[in-house]
Amino acid sequence: MSVESVEHRTEISAGAVPPALEYPACPVCRSERREFSCELSQDYKVARCQDCGVHYLYPRLTEQAMHQVYRDPSYYEGGSSGYADTSYIDQETSLRATFKSLLRNLDRRGMTGGNLLEVGCGYGYLLDEARLYFRHRTGTEFSEDGAARARATGAEVFVGGIEQLPRDASFDCAVAIQVIEHIYDPIGFVGELATRVKPGGYVVLATPDIGGGLRKLMGRRWPSFKVPEHVVYFDFDSLQRLLAGAGLVEVRRLPYPHAFPLGLVAAKFGLSLPQPLERINVWVPATTVAAYGRVSHG
Ligand SMILES: [Zn+2]
Repeated sequence: MSVESVEHRTEISAGAVPPALEYPACPVCRSERREFSCELSQDYKVARCQDCGVHYLYPRLTEQAMHQVYRDPSYYEGGSSGYADTSYIDQETSLRATFKSLLRNLDRRGMTGGNLLEVGCGYGYLLDEARLYFRHRTGTEFSEDGAARARATGAEVFVGGIEQLPRDASFDCAVAIQVIEHIYDPIGFVGELATRVKPGGYVVLATPDIGGGLRKLMGRRWPSFKVPEHVVYFDFDSLQRLLAGAGLVEVRRLPYPHAFPLGLVAAKFGLSLPQPLERINVWVPATTVAAYGRVSHG
């Protein structure tokens, strides 16, 4: 991989050590052939790989600099760093409704039961809702505070990434929801996830849909263009290719309706609502794309 690193100062680190930026090849196929589909700020553009079609942030923070951001507890609460534009806790009701819908969709396809792994489990809302569907629930989470909250749901939760799981741990279903867009080596990540899943088991990914209607409607104001943490963007075709490229079989689309608090949706349009209305769930179509594949028996 050819990555050119430079020291560069941006507004996100005012007064702090300047973050290191790098100019990556396509994070999925390593091609250097790119066109720019969107300019997000003075510093960051979205590139589209001319060989595999995936979109990615260009340039991006080095992975080491990015991990420092995730270790900051204020990341989840949209604190001084300003990375999150709304509090994760404020969205609890909507996230739980979204995860209930996901679990029902998995259950209908016979994908529930046994041991569940969630990578990047946040505060554990999915692991908590999943107690009805899976015998044992395990999560990983980079934030220690997130991991502690997720552990309170009765799940086993490890601080860090997949590498923190015990060597002998294996799962019937592994899910990564709104995670893959943060990953610097998506093929390596899905491959690693697949080694933790039993033959015949499932890997499930959900991510903002760069091919979706909301992105088309909002252009560069699409809320999922989150700089600097979203480094790769998929639509169904590129997500399907990612799963197949990592060796999974029987790759299929999964419906993924996403609920949002009405207050958050209104805020995107510059409106403010009376508080009781703010927490009502609105189901927004075409924001998220999800797909799954099976780990083959041979
Ligand atoms: Zn590519």
